[in-house]
Amino acid sequence: MDENQKIYIFVTGGVLSSLGKGITSASIATLLKHSGYKVGILKIDPYINVDPGTMSPFEHGEVFVTYDGAETDLDIGHYERFLDVNFSSKNNFTTGQVYLSVIEKERKGGYLGQTIQIIPHIVDEIKRRILLAGEDVECLVVELGGTVGDIEGMPFLEAMREMKQELSMQKVISVHVTLIPLMRAAGELKTKPTQHSVQELRRIGITPQIIIARCEKPLPLELKRKLSFSCDVDMDSVIVAEDAPSIYQVPLSFVREGLLSPISRHLSLKKLEPKMESWDKLVKQILFPKDEITIAFVGKYLSLKESYKSLIEALVHSGANLDTQVNIKWCDSEDIYNNGFKMLEFVDGILVPGGFGVRGVGGKIEAIRYAREQQVPFLGICLGMQLALIEFMRNVLGVSEADSIEFNTNTPEPVIYLIEHFIDQNGKRQIRTKTSHKGGTMRLGEYECHILQGSKLQEAYKGVSIVNERHRHRYEINPAYRAQFEKAGLIVSGESNGLIEALELLGHNWFVGVQFHPEFTSRLQNPSPIITTFLQKALYFKKHKR
Ligand code: GLN
Repeated sequence: MDENQKIYIFVTGGVLSSLGKGITSASIATLLKHSGYKVGILKIDPYINVDPGTMSPFEHGEVFVTYDGAETDLDIGHYERFLDVNFSSKNNFTTGQVYLSVIEKERKGGYLGQTIQIIPHIVDEIKRRILLAGEDVECLVVELGGTVGDIEGMPFLEAMREMKQELSMQKVISVHVTLIPLMRAAGELKTKPTQHSVQELRRIGITPQIIIARCEKPLPLELKRKLSFSCDVDMDSVIVAEDAPSIYQVPLSFVREGLLSPISRHLSLKKLEPKMESWDKLVKQILFPKDEITIAFVGKYLSLKESYKSLIEALVHSGANLDTQVNIKWCDSEDIYNNGFKMLEFVDGILVPGGFGVRGVGGKIEAIRYAREQQVPFLGICLGMQLALIEFMRNVLGVSEADSIEFNTNTPEPVIYLIEHFIDQNGKRQIRTKTSHKGGTMRLGEYECHILQGSKLQEAYKGVSIVNERHRHRYEINPAYRAQFEKAGLIVSGESNGLIEALELLGHNWFVGVQFHPEFTSRLQNPSPIITTFLQKALYFKKHKR
């Protein structure tokens, strides 16, 4: 494509965080994609961590893993889910990465004795990374994390200003997402915080062309006019984003609110006419589904739903495609352990997601036992699969000390163990030991899974024999026990280069465990086959088996 035609849309946030900048950016990108543009997306995180891989989910929600094994911000997950595109490590970077590469270059003498400064060196590195993310696309949507006014965000805003200057106003636009709070006592919507936030942007040389105002209720015309006037944006460029019941409605609401005409005008594009019919149909099926099922979601720290983001969304995607509402019954594994199976009695399927650490494991194993014995459709993901094996070894084969070395380093029966060497997705030999440092010991990213002919897994993947799915884990199934559990009916239905990827139970309605995370590749318009099949089986179980 012609480099000079490339466009950049910067999305910043004002007033406060958690305004849905990620969804806004993903929605804008979706509308451009459906209008025929090749769209890319970049999330910039102003924090100093090199990546979120070592951050607690309490701090940062889920760590999203890309196909190339990068541990990224959960917003990258939103972009993939909206755009149905695989992004990579170059689509997310942090202040930590920027400084690290500048300092490494300086140590190697790469700056020929210059004094290294934020301007130009850090800002140049930021711009280099933005251009890299936009390399193969016609339009790059860049979401800047944090809130305008944060100290950490300054170099990124400067990079944005410089790019505007270098590439011209028609190629770079700025969209500012803000909040119009409702003062309940007076029943009034307030524009002042937005005015201040825009002033802050203008102080550093950026005038946003479009304002997206998050609002609890419709914004009266005179307030829209006030915002337009005081923030110096065109009247049609003040877009109201009212809270929506489903995030997938947002692109459709943007079309209704008239966002496309200011975008095409400011960027001198032809009229944007996105084809959203099939998207619209799926959204209708989310909002007004024909069927309904209840899935027990057995986890720990359930108050922290953000750490299960991709899986929750994957259930929405598969549900939408099946025209079925998926009610998630949150089952705290510690409650199951202490209070028994009551809460599992009326569910149509049991899902045990991935996780780390020993806490709550006892209850998860109990839930798996219930699913196995009561023939309730079961899907175990990563830790969920490992625990399914432990449960089977203990309760079916009588190996009472069967365990994962994650929970008991010295277990005499390490059915889940730490493999010392493995070949990564680039064909490189990797070493994992008990002492290797945390950031570098996981099996991350996409690996091929070879599927057993005639298995439930193959049925789920519509007869395909090799699939690519993403990983994020340290431990593996110990093949020394394979003959024993296979003989008893828990068979291996997926393998990757000698590693066991999937298990399923013969003679059960549907009992499948996978070492990979199918939720990372689920998209609204292209849901995960394995999760969709699990829900189909749950629906069947509800209608015919109970
Ligand atoms: N804790 C397990 C491991 O590291 C499972 C990880 C997961 O569920 N993502 O192997």
